[in-house]
This record gives sequence, C-alpha cells and structure tokens, in this order.
Amino acid sequence: MKIHEYQAKSLFREFNIPVPAGNVAFTVDEAVSVAKSLTTAKVVVKAQIHAGGRGKGGGVKVVDNGDAVKEAAQQILGMQLITHQTGPEGKKVKSLLVEEGSSIERELYLSIIMDRATARPVIMASQAGGMDIEEVAEKTPEKIIKEAIHPALGIQAYQARKIAYALDIPKEGMKDALKLLTNLYRMFLEKDCSLVEINPLVVTADKRVIALDGKVNFEDNALFRQPDLVEMRDLDEEDPLEVEASKFNLNYIKLDGNVGCMVNGAGLAMATMDIIKLYGAKPANFLDVGGGADAEGIENAFRILVSDKSVELIFINIFGGILRCDLLAEGVVAAASKLNITLPIVIRMKGTNMEEGKKILADSGLKFEVADTMKEGAEKVAQLMKQPVAS
Ligand code: GDP
Ligand code: MN
Repeated sequence: MKIHEYQAKSLFREFNIPVPAGNVAFTVDEAVSVAKSLTTAKVVVKAQIHAGGRGKGGGVKVVDNGDAVKEAAQQILGMQLITHQTGPEGKKVKSLLVEEGSSIERELYLSIIMDRATARPVIMASQAGGMDIEEVAEKTPEKIIKEAIHPALGIQAYQARKIAYALDIPKEGMKDALKLLTNLYRMFLEKDCSLVEINPLVVTADKRVIALDGKVNFEDNALFRQPDLVEMRDLDEEDPLEVEASKFNLNYIKLDGNVGCMVNGAGLAMATMDIIKLYGAKPANFLDVGGGADAEGIENAFRILVSDKSVELIFINIFGGILRCDLLAEGVVAAASKLNITLPIVIRMKGTNMEEGKKILADSGLKFEVADTMKEGAEKVAQLMKQPVAS
C-alpha cells in the first residue's frame, strides 16, 4: 500500500524525523489559509499523487508567501500531472501539500528497503540526491552506498555514523542526522514498511537536516495489524479494478495484453501467462481466485474480468483441488449467462470432478472451448485471437 507525501510526513513527525511545517489542502482556499499559518517568506505548493517525479512535471512550485500561493494552488489543483511514473495519461491532482520553503544547501538521498538478496533491511544513501537519482543509480551506482541491517540487532551506532559520514553531514547537523537514521529505521520496522524514501533529504543553509520529501510503502500482508495505516489508503490513486478485486480477496493485476486470465494459485497464474505468451497471445491481466473460491467468487472474478475493456477473450485455467471442477463449471455457467458474456471463453480444468464439470459446460447451451492440457488451451487462445473479430 502506498500513501501520499503529506501522510508520510505526518508519520515522520510521529517518529521525530524533522520535516518542514505545513499541511494538506483539498481546495484553493484551504491552500491559502495553510500558507497564512506559515511564517516563512517562501512557501512550497506540492501536488499530492502516488507517483514521483512531480518536480519535473510541474507539480512542485516554490513561491512567495502571498498572492502567488493562490495562483500556484489554482494551477496545480485539478491538473492532470504527467510524470515518468504516471504513464502518459497522467494523474489528476486532488490535494496539495502547502509547506514552509527551505533554503537548501545540499540535496541528499536516503532510503530503506527490504532487500531479498540479503534478506535484511538495507539502508541506501547518496550525496547525489534530488530529482535525478534514477540516473545516478543507472550511470554512477558507486555514488550510492548500502548498509544492510541485521534484523535481530537493529541499526548499530557505527552504521548510522558510517552513513552520516558518507553523506558528509556537517558537524552541526551530525547529532540530528544520527537520530534521524535511528528513528527512520524504527519507523520502517514498527510500521511494517516495504520502502521508506527521503529524496531529497536536505542540509539547509543553517545546517539542519530535514526530510523535504517522503515516500512510504507498506507491506500489504501486514496491514491486518496496522489499522491506522489502512485509514490512510486513497482508493482514488489505485486501479479501480484492482480495488474492486481486493474487496473479494481476489488477486488482480492489470497487464497490457488482451487475454483475460482466470486462474487459481500464483504459480499457475505465472505458468498460464508464460504459456499463452509462448503461443503468441498476450495476457490482459492476472486474476487469481485463490484456492478456496466458491461460485460467488467465480462470478465476481468474471465480472471484474469483463469490465476490463481490453479483454477480448477469457482463458480459464483452473486446477480443481479444494475448488472442485463441477463447482467451477457451475459458477462459470451462472456468471456467463447472468452477465451476458459474448466473449469467447477457453476453459482448461483438471482435477477433482473434472468429468462432471465438463458435462455441466457441455449441457449449458453456452459456447465454451474446452481444452485438456495447458498447451492445448494456449493454442486455442492464440488461434482465436488471430481470427478477425466478428462484426
Ligand atoms: P518529486 O519531484 O515528486 O520527488 O518532489 P520533491 O518533493 O522531491 O520536490 C522536487 C524538488 O523541488 C526538490 O528536489 C527540490 O529541489 C525542490 N523543492 C522542494 N521543496 C523545496 C523548498 O522548500 N525549497 C526549495 N528551494 N526547493 C524545494
Ligand atoms: Mn522527491
């Protein structure tokens, strides 16, 4: 789960990580009144979307604290902000963060991620922070240092010092920087984060070290024990079909092809996508109904599949274990007739009550392409996709 910068900064405050004073605004008037409560001559107006690269896309404006705030807020609020992370369609800006302007001396980079290779949280830091960190990572990766943290020991004082020295923190800011590192690590653990990123972490003209930006992602599988964080979820920022699927505990991921895939189990989902690609078709999504799906689950899955406009064919590839093939067939027939599905449907099912399932499909009066093996299913999918669409 992702959150907005203003929410990340409220968590930072909770963990005593210094951030500029400021507040969220949902209207231009609110933005103006937040600015009035700030005492600095400069104010920053920042688009709140779940994507980075806002600065380059025109979503961050540093202005004089006065009439210019209203102007900046009017410009940014409601705009379709396009950044390298939003895709070409961009993202509509629905809220702003209005905060004190900081006089920046240096822009640094600091993040903590869960690293699979070392199976440890890893702190990454660089003096080359700011808006071009992706380029730094690609062209001069040696400018980014990494420090793995032992999960049982936690961040050690020497590790915090090592990072602070690598960042060349001035001595006036050293104590605060060490505290910031410890606090950030504590937040990463306590809040079940999968990523915490501060880019830029700045050294100000008066040698303070503050988090000017904040990006925080949480591990979805831990959200059950983080009810406060779930409150921060902004469904507007997520793919509507993925949101709908999550309501029914279906794992749905949107992809860019045109074959809707209904499968059970992540392993089978991967294999299904691989094999249809091998035969020349492209998956429109990955929809995993899970091991224990019932007829209702199948119907919901179907509804989500067909509301994805890019789906031109449905491929159902199910292993009948706990979900028996006859139950699956019943669910599919019910959903297909109830939802009036006219798209071609290829079904491959294997396992418990397979023959009963096939009979239900055959007796339904609906047109299904039934395959016995994954290979045969994928061949049928590819073949059907090549046929001209009936007018
Ligand atoms: P991002 O582009 O989405 O990562 O948004 P950031 O919050 O990182 O802001 C982008 C850039 O705006 C930063 O790298 C800074 O250079 C600049 N910026 C943000 N806040 C301030 C500020 O208070 N003062 C000044 N001078 N620049 C700022
Ligand atoms: Mn940033």
